[in-house]
Amino acid sequence: MKKYYLLAPGPTPMPPRVLQAMTRPILHHRTKEFVALMKSVSEDLRWLFETTSDVLILNSTGTGGMEASVTNFLSRGDKAIAVCGGKFGKRWSQIGKAFGVEMIDVNVANGEAVDPQTIAKLLDEHPDVRAVFTQGSETSTGVAHPVKEIAALVRNRPETLMVVDGVTSVGVMPQPMDEWGIDVLVSGSQKAFMLPPGLAFVGVSSKAWSFAERSNLPKYYFNLSKERKTQGNGESAYTSAVSLVMGLRESLNMMKEEGLAAIFRRHALLAQATREGLMALGCELLAKTHPSAAVTAVYPPNGVAAGDVTSTLSKKYNITAAGGQDELKGKIFRIAHLGYAGRFDVITAISALEMVFKELGYKFDSGIGVATAHRVLEEGGDL
Ligand SMILES: *Cc1c(COP(=O)(O)O)cnc(C)c1O
Repeated sequence: MKKYYLLAPGPTPMPPRVLQAMTRPILHHRTKEFVALMKSVSEDLRWLFETTSDVLILNSTGTGGMEASVTNFLSRGDKAIAVCGGKFGKRWSQIGKAFGVEMIDVNVANGEAVDPQTIAKLLDEHPDVRAVFTQGSETSTGVAHPVKEIAALVRNRPETLMVVDGVTSVGVMPQPMDEWGIDVLVSGSQKAFMLPPGLAFVGVSSKAWSFAERSNLPKYYFNLSKERKTQGNGESAYTSAVSLVMGLRESLNMMKEEGLAAIFRRHALLAQATREGLMALGCELLAKTHPSAAVTAVYPPNGVAAGDVTSTLSKKYNITAAGGQDELKGKIFRIAHLGYAGRFDVITAISALEMVFKELGYKFDSGIGVATAHRVLEEGGDL
């Protein structure tokens, strides 16, 4: 028998409750039952995004939500800043350029978080910047960017929006949209939402809606103003991904039962246990100062090839972890701990890595990684 484990940063494992909710018969999307369902999930998305404004649901992966965040709020020839600290930061820049936005790329070394002072300086030099784009959690490097500090710089500029890719930070790390002044917050179903890929979520502030009125970039399917009108009535402009919305109802139930504070604490503890366990095994963290609570990226111990780690995990132990992307390919590997993740997922990951390292000829104190992770989890108390 093969038992498979999914320890990659999306798609993430699904709780049985959510899987089961998705097997219910399809509702027609123009029925009063579905309208009630849409209204209830919309309400709870506002709770999760910590906003009184709209959180729209799109049939798309996270990237579609990112694209919509560019095309609905900006206009041709607008200037915008993109924090490029990895694959997803570069994606903001690429989307902006594809639609004729003049992008100012802030290149941040892999593993580092952007310095808010750099953004402050750029905003002073370019007062006509219409948006600052960043990730909350840069999944390719395992870095958490200082969203709160950057949002504080943007908040008092009526002509600039703060746009955050929260695909691996919503439901993982605190990122209160209204309190911090985030204007557009994007997420996606296959990460902390514990759902299959296929839904994107876009939170939009009233400041951002005023930008939408003036935006002239091309858009048709991802027209957020149109979605706002229909979703305000519990419908959507086009056919809803009905089964995914049924699953979303159940995953939001689980998140509400746990509570936001407990969700953030759980992810922080699992991340800490993963980091310390991996370091005890001789791995080096890529994100040394601002690690994400969603995923941990490390260089393997000396003499071990990152590619061999992920391929052995997969071939021998049926565990899907993630390698590096772009220039980090073959250099690092990544272990995710977001969504439907608990203490023993961390123990499974570290234990399997011990087996793999041993097999690859690396010498270490057998059990040291597991014991270290175990200690961190015990000290962390109840989850
Ligand atoms: C997964 C992810 C996305 C979205 O990627 P899709 O393949 O479109 O789902 C965007 N940003 C970050 C930070 C991600 O982790």
